[in-house]
Amino acid sequence: RTTHFGYQEVPVEEKAARVADVFHSVASRYDLMNDLMSLGIHRLWKRLTLERAGVRRGQSVLDIAGGTGDLTLKFSRLVGPSGRVVLADINASMLNVGRDKLLDHGVGGNVEYVQANAECLPFADNTFDCITIAFGLRNVTDKDAALASMARVLKPGGRLLVLEFSKPPHQLLSKVYDEYSFRLLPKMGELVANDADSYRYLAESIRMHPDQETLKGMMERAGLERVEYTNLTGGIVALHRGIKL
Ligand code: SAM
Repeated sequence: RTTHFGYQEVPVEEKAARVADVFHSVASRYDLMNDLMSLGIHRLWKRLTLERAGVRRGQSVLDIAGGTGDLTLKFSRLVGPSGRVVLADINASMLNVGRDKLLDHGVGGNVEYVQANAECLPFADNTFDCITIAFGLRNVTDKDAALASMARVLKPGGRLLVLEFSKPPHQLLSKVYDEYSFRLLPKMGELVANDADSYRYLAESIRMHPDQETLKGMMERAGLERVEYTNLTGGIVALHRGIKL
C-alpha cells in the first residue's frame, strides 16, 4: 500500500526495526524537537495527563514508552519516597537520555529504568496503580497486545492513560495539520536534526494511528472500563483514560 506522501507502507515485520532506528537517531535531540514541533504545547498535553492520572503519594506508576522521561520526572515527585515509578522503553538510547536528564534534575531512589516492550511487559499481574503511554502507542506494532499487557499489570482500580496524536474532527484544521505534518515537519527535522526521514516516519505514523472512537473500542476490548477521551488542541491529540475494575 502507498501512503499519503507517496511512500510504500512499511511491512509489519519491518516496523519494529524502523521504529528502533528512528528513536536511536533522534534520542539526543528528542526534547528540543518536541518543543519545536509542538511549539511547546506538548507540555500542556502532558500536564493534563498528570492531572487526570490522579496519582498520590506512595503509589506505583509505570510510564511505558516513557522515552526521555518527562512524565516520570513529575510522577517521581508526586509519589514521593514511599512510591515507585518505572520508566520503561524498548529503546536503550532513549532510556539513557532519560536517565541522564532525571539524574540532572536530582531524581533519586524512587525511579527504576527498565528496557521493555509494551507488547509483553515483564511485570507481575496487578502491579501498578497507574500506567501512562504518551506518544508511544502509535509506534507499537501490535497495539492490542500492548493494551492487554498494560491491563494485566494494572491493579484493580488502576488507571491507564493513553496520550496520542489523533484525528482532528474539523476538516479545515485537518487540512492545515496535514500540510504542517507532511511538508513542514520533515523540513524542520532536516534543519534541526539533519534527519528528514525520521520526521517523515513520524507524520506517517500519526496518519495511520486509530482515531478516537477506534482506540476507545480497542481499550474496551483489552478489558478496560469506563473508557473516555478528551480532545486536545482540536483533536490533534487525544487523551484516553480507562480503568481496570
Ligand atoms: N513518552 C515520551 C514523551 O511523551 O515524550 C516519549 C515518546 S516517543 C515519541 C515514543 C517512544 O516509544 C520512544 O522512546 C520509543 O523507543 C518507544 N517505543 C516504541 N515502540 C515501543 C514498544 N513496543 N514498547 C515500548 N516502547 C516503545
